Amino acid sequence: MPASPDERRFFGAILEELGMGEWPGGTIAAQQRLAVRLMRKADVRMLVIDELHNVLSGSRTRQCVLVSNCPSCSRDLWAHWLGSQKPRVVGHCDHCDFRLSKAIARPALRAAAGLQGRLLKLKRTGAEMPPLGWIDWSTFPAIADLGMYAIWVDTADHARETVFSRIVRDLGMKPDQRLFIEWPANYGSLVMMTCMLADWPNRLQQTLHDLQSLNIDGIL
Ligand SMILES: [Zn+2]
Repeated sequence: MPASPDERRFFGAILEELGMGEWPGGTIAAQQRLAVRLMRKADVRMLVIDELHNVLSGSRTRQCVLVSNCPSCSRDLWAHWLGSQKPRVVGHCDHCDFRLSKAIARPALRAAAGLQGRLLKLKRTGAEMPPLGWIDWSTFPAIADLGMYAIWVDTADHARETVFSRIVRDLGMKPDQRLFIEWPANYGSLVMMTCMLADWPNRLQQTLHDLQSLNIDGIL
């Protein structure tokens, strides 16, 4: 997969792998149809896509939260059979047999999807990142890492839960939505950064206060 793909490059890379050479041009829909047709002809059984969030497309309101656990029993979905030589039909949870195609997509928080869009631009060209100002890609991960370090390292679970509850409240979500966010995953980090950047540096300072164990000097 290209390092920072969009839909066109994503399907272009598949077509190239299937021996079609460079895509001569045309709509993304036509490119997608051809890629799917050729994969069927080549008897492709599985497409493993890493870093899928890079190819999310559509309007912000259509972007969904990617999860790695079963919507029915909440257990992790592991592809532990990847090395198997036997054909495998993927469609059910191994634990509770829930049919994964029946899962209802949960829309991503609009502000978090907006931040993701700005981060993709930042990665390519640098970007204006209010309220931090103009920054390049090497700077933002350092800022995000400090925030994540403060949340996850040497902090008590109850203090962290206080932070998550406040983030959900500050972002205008219902309290129980806290339970549906995988906080250690990419989306959880995105939600946390969305909240902190919306009132920077006050919410960062409030977070450090809630965690009761660190101050800004402590994480630098
Ligand atoms: Zn399950």
